Amino acid sequence: SWGSFVDKNMYDWSSEEEETDGRARPVQVLVVKDDHTFELDEAALSKILLAEEVRDREVVAISVAGAFRKGKSFLMDFMLRYMYSQASDTWLGDPDEPLTGFSWRGGSERETTGIQIWSEVFLVDKPDGSKVAVLLMDTQGTFDSQSTLRDSATVFALSTMISSMQVYNISQNVQEDDLQHLQLFTEYGRLAMEETFLKPFQSMIFLVRDWSFPYEFPYGQEGGMKFLEKRLKISENQHEELQNVRKHIHSCFTNISCFLMPHPGLKVATNPHFDGRLKEIDQEFINNLQVLVLWLLHPKNLDVKEINGSKITCRGLLEYFKAYIKIYQG
Ligand code: GDP
Ligand code: MG
Repeated sequence: SWGSFVDKNMYDWSSEEEETDGRARPVQVLVVKDDHTFELDEAALSKILLAEEVRDREVVAISVAGAFRKGKSFLMDFMLRYMYSQASDTWLGDPDEPLTGFSWRGGSERETTGIQIWSEVFLVDKPDGSKVAVLLMDTQGTFDSQSTLRDSATVFALSTMISSMQVYNISQNVQEDDLQHLQLFTEYGRLAMEETFLKPFQSMIFLVRDWSFPYEFPYGQEGGMKFLEKRLKISENQHEELQNVRKHIHSCFTNISCFLMPHPGLKVATNPHFDGRLKEIDQEFINNLQVLVLWLLHPKNLDVKEINGSKITCRGLLEYFKAYIKIYQG
C-alpha cells in the first residue's frame, strides 16, 4: 500500500500563508522577480526534500509546465487525488465533490513565473519492491514578451533538468512557438551537456489540451505519438531554425511522447462557478483523464530521476537544484 494517506479535507488549498497546521499545500520554491533574477526558497525546499521519511529515498520528480490558464492546476488536482487515494480503482472520487489542491479557480492565483511544489512528498511501493518518493511540481511562465519569454524558458529548463518527467501542457495543438520555446530550453540543455556528456533531460510528454481532430489522430497516447512524429518531422522546405529545433529536441531527451486530450466541456471552460466536480465534466474527458493519470502515475510507470546515469535521492535533488540555479545565475 502507499506510504502516506491523508484525509481529503486535509489538503484543501489554504492560500500562501505560512503553514501552521501541517496541511499539505503548494509551496512556491522558485520565483523570477521583476528584475529577472531568480530567487530560490532554499529553506522551504529543504524542509520538503529533507523530511526524515523521504530524504534518503530515490526520487521521482514529475513536473507539469506551461503557460498560465491552460488547465495545469486542474490536471494536477486530479493527480493529487490519485496519489492520495493510494491508487485505488475509485480514485476519481465522488461525482459531486469539488476539486481541491493546487489553486486553479480563476482569479485566486497570482501569476508568478516560477516553480511550485506540493509540500507532501508521496512514498510509493513499486511492483519491483522498491519504495520511491514522488514529488509533484507546477512550473509556469508567461510568453508575451522577449524578457518574460527568456525568464520562462529558463524556469522550464530548470524544472526539466530536475524532473524525471516533464509534462509540457499546451493548448489545442503543437504550435511553432511551442517548439521555439523548447529551442530555448535545449540551448540550456546543451550548456548542461557540456558538463555531463549525457542527454541532460529524461522524459518529455507533450500534453495537448482541447485536441479537436480526433478523426485524424485519436485521443490518447497512440494518436499523440503519430501526431508528434508528423509534427517533429524535418523537411527540406522548413526554415533552418525550425529544422534545428527538431534535431535538438531529439538530442536532448531520453524519451519523447505525446498525449491528446479532449475538451472538458463548456462548464469547465467557461462557467465561473464551476468548482471541479466530475458531474459537470464531459465523459470523454474523464475517460481520457483516467488513462492519462494512470499512464503518468501508476507505480509501475514511475521512473526515478537519474543524473549522469546515477539514481538521485531527495537529498541529492536538493543539491542539484541549488547547483543548476547557480549555472543560470551566471
Ligand atoms: P493553469 O493556470 O494552467 O494552472 O490553469 P487552471 O488549471 O487554473 O485552469 C484555468 C481555467 O481553464 C479554469 O477555468 C479551468 O476550469 C479551465 N480548464 C481546465 N482544464 C481545461 C481544459 O482541458 N480545457 C479548457 N478549455 N479549459 C480547461
Ligand atoms: Mg495553475
